[in-house]
Amino acid sequence: MAQIDAIVGWKDLPFGCHVYEPGSTAKFRTGDWRSQRPVLDKEKCIRCGMCWVFCPDMCYSQTEEGYFEANMEYCKGCGICAHECPKDAITMVPEED
Ligand code: SF4
Ligand code: SF4
Repeated sequence: MAQIDAIVGWKDLPFGCHVYEPGSTAKFRTGDWRSQRPVLDKEKCIRCGMCWVFCPDMCYSQTEEGYFEANMEYCKGCGICAHECPKDAITMVPEED
């Protein structure tokens, strides 16, 4: 699990939870509330990048080998990457496994 830098109380939140500071979403580690994670099968992966394109949290980055790896600090476990992968190379597994 990701570490939280500081606990923000509800009284400290801006009205309507608006975001006023550009680029500040990096502070919100959405991986904290993930219940399942994507696991890549490199034997099936063709390195097309569709997982990177469709991930709503933009948490994929490309390795030197050309594969795409999700940053677990931000992956919220939605499963969109697994759904969109044309080669079924991504399997969603329960977080406790
Ligand atoms: S979408 Fe599937 S095949 Fe394409 S890079 Fe991602 S894991 Fe590999
Ligand atoms: S499970 Fe969702 S958030 Fe996680 S890498 Fe896949 S598309 Fe992104």
